[in-house]
Formats: sequence, structure tokens, C-alpha cells
Amino acid sequence: MIYVKYSTSKFATIHEVCRETFEEQTRNKFPWEQGTPVRKQYAICPACDNPVRLVGIYRKMDKRPHRVHTEKDIEGLQRHVLQKYMYCMLSKRSKYIDDAERFTEPNESQIELCHILQNNFHKVVYIAEKILHIRGSNNFWSSTLEQFIASKGYLYPWITLENLPWMLIYFGLSQKNIFNQDIVLESKIHQVITDKCNNASFDKVIIHANKSYGKLSKSENAKGFLKPICLRFSGHKKQMIEDVLNETMTLYVDSGSVEIYKQSIEVDQHYFRNILLKPDWKESERCKKLLNSAKEIMEKYNINNQ
Ligand SMILES: [Zn+2]
Repeated sequence: MIYVKYSTSKFATIHEVCRETFEEQTRNKFPWEQGTPVRKQYAICPACDNPVRLVGIYRKMDKRPHRVHTEKDIEGLQRHVLQKYMYCMLSKRSKYIDDAERFTEPNESQIELCHILQNNFHKVVYIAEKILHIRGSNNFWSSTLEQFIASKGYLYPWITLENLPWMLIYFGLSQKNIFNQDIVLESKIHQVITDKCNNASFDKVIIHANKSYGKLSKSENAKGFLKPICLRFSGHKKQMIEDVLNETMTLYVDSGSVEIYKQSIEVDQHYFRNILLKPDWKESERCKKLLNSAKEIMEKYNINNQ
């Protein structure tokens, strides 16, 4: 489906591009509908907060209803910002930008995302752990955040609210040893390590949220040492398929210098926003610790005071 917002807030709910939701959200009022003699309908791009025009919600077209960036100011709506448009994954322009490029200073949107990352670090970690099938210690996640900041992941032009948990691990977990972390038993990563890493064991089992985890340790009767088992990511790709964003990256697992596993991971464009908007989120002691650590790290690097 193709989505838009009717507010510039990062936390705004997104709506499918269609006549029913447009009328429900705007009552066909200015500035969402304007122009004579032809009435035009507008909304906000969920990725770059620039104005977009809704096409085909009243007039039948060959293509299903969709959104087009206006590339200019629209009376009554947030001003069009060229830089945000150029780096919007949902815009046609973005494919001309070199993916390796980084900003030297965070823009307003990246500063906002750093605040969201700090204040919702436990939720970001929740999704990261679901993606990886790993439950990490507080130290593990703190050092992931430190690496994300040190490698200037927050200055990556393609970071969005939607992909924030994925970008945390993309930049923060590079070459990180997962020794001593809890791994979901029977997950793919657990099977691969069991099959391919001599001397690895998962003896200390804990149950959490109905799942069994084993701590990645060195087997007690192992001869020799356990080579570091590290994660790394690369190949973040974004592609528009029939106006719907498809965003992927590749996870690698290495044992010493040998690659033992490779998996393509798709960014779920709704997961993080849905969790941010969830009102009944229970905050455990572990969540509080993660939030405290995130605050300390962001303060140490002076990230949220720029
Ligand atoms: Zn956009």
C-alpha cells in the first residue's frame, strides 16, 4: 500500500492513499484540498515531511491512487525543503545520490531522530533483538549505541524513523563479538553456530517471553579456544516497486575470518512506528537500564545538544 501523513509530526499515524481516508482526515478542507477550477488534494510525505499531491483518488486512472512530491511550496502546508526531498527514499531524485555519502552536520530531521533514539532506546533494542534472535546484555547494547555514534551512523542520509532499529545494528554492530549473549535456541543463527563453530556451546538456558535462549559460551570440554563470532552488515539498498519502498540489508556472521552465514533482512516499514504509538508498553527494570545508558552515551558525545 502507499501511505501519507496529515501532520508533519514524526509520530503521526500514516494513512493509505485513498478517497475514504482523505475525506475522513481532512473533510476536504484547505490546505489539504485547494485550487480552481480543478481541485487538488495534498498530504505530507511520511519520509521527508514535504508536501505531496494525491493522484487518482477522485479521477480514475490506469495506476492505483498514489502520491507525488510537489517539489514546491503549497499554500498552508509545511514549506518544501529541497535537501530533505533530495534524500527522501520515496522520491525519484534519491536514486541519483551516492549511497556512501554522509552529511557533515546533522540536519533537523536527524537531530529529531537522535532524540527519538535516546528516548525510545528500549523499543529500538526490542526490534533489533527480534531481527537478530539475540538478547543482548546492557553492555552489549550500550557499546552498540556507542559504535553507532562513533561511526557517525546518525549522519547517514538514508536514516528514517522507520529504519532506525535496523540502522542502529547496521552501523553499531559491525564486527561485534556476540560471545556471552543469549541466542534464541533453534533460530537460524543458533543452528549455524552449532554446526560450524567448534567449541561453541549454549548450555546456560533461560526462558524469556516463552522463548528459550542459550548463552553463547565456550564448551567446557573444548580443546583450544573459541574463535570470535562476529556480526557485520552491508549492502543497505532501497528500491521503489510500484511506489512502495522496499528496503533491505545483508547480515553476515563470521567465525574468525571465515564467513559462516549470510542473510538478507528486509526493513519492516511499520514496525517501529507502531511500537512508538503503542500506549500500553510495559517498562521493565531492563528497559530503564537501557534508557539510562542511552542518555549517558548521548550526553557523553554531546549528540542531543547540537
Ligand atoms: Zn518524501
